[in-house]
Formats: sequence, C-alpha cells, structure tokens
Amino acid sequence: MQTEVLIAGGGYAGLSTAMYLAQHGTQALLVERHETTSPHPKASGQTWRAMELYRFAGIDEEVRRASLRTRDDVLISTGTSLSGPLHRISSPGYDPDVRKATALRSSPAGQDAVEPILARRAAELGADVRFGVELVSFDQDDDGVRALIRDRSTGVETQVQAGYLVAADGARSPIRTRLGIPFDGEGGLHHMIGAVFDADPIEALPHHEYHICFLQNGELSGMVTNSERPGRYILGLTYDPARGESPDDFTTQRITDVIRELTGRTADIVGIAPWEIAAKVARTFRDKRIFLTGDAAKVAPPSGGQGGNTAVGDGNNLAWKLSAVLRGEAGEELLDTYEVERRPIAEAVVDLSMRNLSVLTDPVAGFAELTASAAAIKLVLGFQYRSSAVSNEDDDLSLTEDPGTPSGRPGFRAPDQTGQISHLLGNGWILLGRTGNWASAAEDCGITFRLLPDLDAAYRQATLVRPDGIVAWRSDSPHGKAAELRAVLDRLLSRT
Ligand SMILES: Cc1cc2nc3c(=O)[nH]c(=O)nc-3n(C[C@H](O)[C@H](O)[C@H](O)COP(=O)(O)OP(=O)(O)OC[C@H]3O[C@@H](n4cnc5c(N)ncnc54)[C@H](O)[C@@H]3O)c2cc1C
Repeated sequence: MQTEVLIAGGGYAGLSTAMYLAQHGTQALLVERHETTSPHPKASGQTWRAMELYRFAGIDEEVRRASLRTRDDVLISTGTSLSGPLHRISSPGYDPDVRKATALRSSPAGQDAVEPILARRAAELGADVRFGVELVSFDQDDDGVRALIRDRSTGVETQVQAGYLVAADGARSPIRTRLGIPFDGEGGLHHMIGAVFDADPIEALPHHEYHICFLQNGELSGMVTNSERPGRYILGLTYDPARGESPDDFTTQRITDVIRELTGRTADIVGIAPWEIAAKVARTFRDKRIFLTGDAAKVAPPSGGQGGNTAVGDGNNLAWKLSAVLRGEAGEELLDTYEVERRPIAEAVVDLSMRNLSVLTDPVAGFAELTASAAAIKLVLGFQYRSSAVSNEDDDLSLTEDPGTPSGRPGFRAPDQTGQISHLLGNGWILLGRTGNWASAAEDCGITFRLLPDLDAAYRQATLVRPDGIVAWRSDSPHGKAAELRAVLDRLLSRT
C-alpha cells in the first residue's frame, strides 16, 4: 500500500502529527503497536500553547470538557502514608498573567483523556489510524521509504511505500536505534516502577484536583498521584539497580502490598511498567526522509510537565512543513527548519525539567522556586524560532521573551489577547491587516486575508502568520505590495 507519510507510534507525537497532516490534506498512515491509546494518565496538564494547537484542529473545547478537574494547578504533599497526616507544601494558586499573550486557558486534562480525542479527530480528518499494528522494518532511498507493518493479532504483514516516515515511537524509539542516532545527555537519573491501579476512593486525593504525594516510609520511596477518573491512581516507586534491584522484583503481589501499606487500600492493578528518568536529546532529528518527534527526539524528566505538550508541538511543526513540501508549495529545505526550530525547545525543556528535578528532591525547601518558574511559562508562550522559515527582524538570539508583554515579532507566537485570532489560525498561511490595503496582495499570493482593524499594538499594517500560529513577517507599509509578499513567501518556503 502507499501513503504520503507513515507514522510509527500512537502517543501524543504520532497522533498529533497524523491529525495535523490530515488537516492539511496529506495522506497519513499511523501504526500503533498497542490495541488502544495509553491508559496511563502520565502527562497531566495541557499548556496554553497545547490548547492553542488543539484549537487549530477544533478540539480545544472537547479537551477542556474531558477534564473533571476544577483546578488548573498542582498540589504537592509529603508524608509517610496516605492514611496518616500529610504535609501540604503547595497551595500556591497558579495564576501567571498571560492575558496579553492568549485568551485561552490551560487545562488540567490528562494524557489518558486527551489521546483518544486526538486519535478520533485524526481519523475524522482522514488519517488512517491503526491500533494493534507495528512497524517491523524500514529502509529508505532518494525516492521514499519502504516499510513492513504487521497486524499483531492476525500476524498479517503489509508492505508500505511512503514519502516520509515519522518516528513517534517513544523514548526507546526502535527507529532512532536502528538509524544509529545517539542520545546526548544523562540517562538513568532515577529508575522507576510505575503502576496504575484502581481502588476505593482515597479521601486525601479527590479526583477534581491534581495532587502529587511524595511518600517516604522506611525503605519505600515513591509517589502516589490521582487521575481524572474517580478511583484511579498512579504509584511511582524508585528502585536502585546498584543495590541489585530490578523491575522483576516488583511483582503484582509486591506492588499490591506496597499500595496497601502506603494508602490503606486494596488495589486492582491495571498495569505495571518500569521507566527511567532521563534527560537526553537526539543528536539529530532527521535522517533524510525520516524525522524524530516527541520522546523519540528528546526525553525529559516529568518534573517539567512539558514532554507531552512539546510532543504535540513537534507534530504540528513537522506536519504543516511536510504537507507544504508534498503539495509542491515549498522546497525540501523547509524540512530542515523542523530541527532548527524544535531542537532549542527540546533542550530547554530538558534543562528546565532537570532544574525542577533537583528542587523536587528537596520539595519542602524548594517548592516556592518551582512554582515561581517563570522560565516555564516563557517557554510555553514566549518562545522564539529563528530559522529560514521566519523573517527575524533583529539579532535577538534569546530563546524566549516575557509573554506578559508579547512583542509580536517574527519568530514568536501571534499574540491573541482578545481571542479573535487563534480561531482563524491553523489551516494555512494568513495575512492579518489593519486596513484592507493588503487584501489583493494576499489574494495574488493565494493566501487568506483577514481585516482586523482593532489588532493590538504588537501587530503592524500587515502581519503574516504561519499555519502554526507563528508570526513569519510583518510590514509597516500602508500600501499592499504583492511582489514583496510573494518574495517573502518564496524565501520562507524555500522556493527557488
Ligand atoms: C510519570 C510521567 C509523568 C509525566 N508527566 C507529564 C506532564 O505532566 N506533562 C507532560 O507534558 N509530559 C509528561 N510526561 C511525559 C509524556 O508522557 C511524554 O513526553 C509523552 O508521552 C511523549 O509522547 P510520545 O508520543 O513522543 O511517546 P509515547 O507516548 O511513548 O508514544 C510512543 C508510542 O509508540 C509506540 N511504538 C513503539 N514502537 C512501535 C512500533 N515499532 N510500531 C508501532 N508503534 C510503536 C508505543 O507503543 C507508544 O504507544 C510524563 C511522563 C511520565 C512517564
């Protein structure tokens, strides 16, 4: 069978890549080896930027409704067990002032609630999303990628011919391994056993607020968090290979005993899996026709709360570029800007998560620093891209600016204080004008024009916004010039 883009992996990265490819009219075949999306509510919380990207695909409201939580912030406690007293080390209220950057709210929705929405929307938009199917092997040449996929229940194998392959196959990425692309950074920072379990409600962890409890009880060290679903919880236990401990030691019986000790509840175990806290970035995000996204490209400790959110950002960034190249609207070189733009974000997420991790190892002393993490908010809403797909106006190499005072410069998000802009974005290039003078220039260049006389001061007479909501170029000229706009688009899209 043939497809324009084959995607291996059905987590945040793969599902969002498939969804945005389909939104841009590109054929996408996604294979995920598991039968369903992950039941693990790992990544709790959708940032403002993730919500904005979901709005582009028309699912932000659904994502918001998917959460039963009534607070957007995270509560953190410490103690020896959930049956005993807990020391609440946070009730900070999480209300940074981002109103000038976005009218959207972040959402506390968890990964287990959001991934099915992405999968459904991807299929609705025309992507071929197949669960229970794995990528077995692949190779590539100048013309495309040939891959073998296998239905895991029937054993039926199919050859796939694709233009491009997206590795969205997670932290252990078999595709990255097979390509021989190394990870740079630190692995094995902590070794964890994660268990999802159902139990009678734990009063200390009501499901309508997100709560992480760090528990230290003799030899036991770990954490228990709640999920969106009433009566479903997650246990994270550290183990130490240096002391001869291994995942095999954590049988269902032992985990059940630990949960009884820490929570006083009899657990019904949903799943147990080992994972490693690591901080690593792949040496390259691209090998010819194959692109690494999400955790396949970088792995950050969960203490930054951005691994999943930025996997969605990767998928969105790559999808519109692949679509533009496949439609013949952009030159191949546009695809190089995927790594140029996303690598600095990946490195910053890893760095931020590492800083938070060191604070969390002494949560009582350090939590104020963690919650005051303006750096995290800057990265979510104030990040800058510098690449050939943006007409950067100055030499400011800073990765971020303060989203409290968004500049609207090319390379940054199109600010949306009033909420009148984000619902216009996401489907293609758009020229926002203060007057109608640039309308015919936009029409000549085949892009959408919107007249918005009340745009705030960050906007110029004409502001060109990319399909991912990033300002690409702007002009102070009150006179529309089609030739100038066409030259800008040619340059940004690497058209010769
Ligand atoms: C405990 C925990 C808490 C976290 N908290 C947060 C948080 O609060 N906020 C946040 O943003 N992030 C958080 N994260 C990180 C987030 O979960 C990950 O960054 C995110 O899941 C990465 O998505 P992904 O799609 O890249 O990879 P994954 O979700 O790992 O998906 C990869 C998929 O590829 C599939 N696959 C692998 N090989 C093949 C193959 N050969 N064929 C077909 N399919 C294949 C796998 O089955 C898997 O489903 C947390 C992570 C953990 C472990």
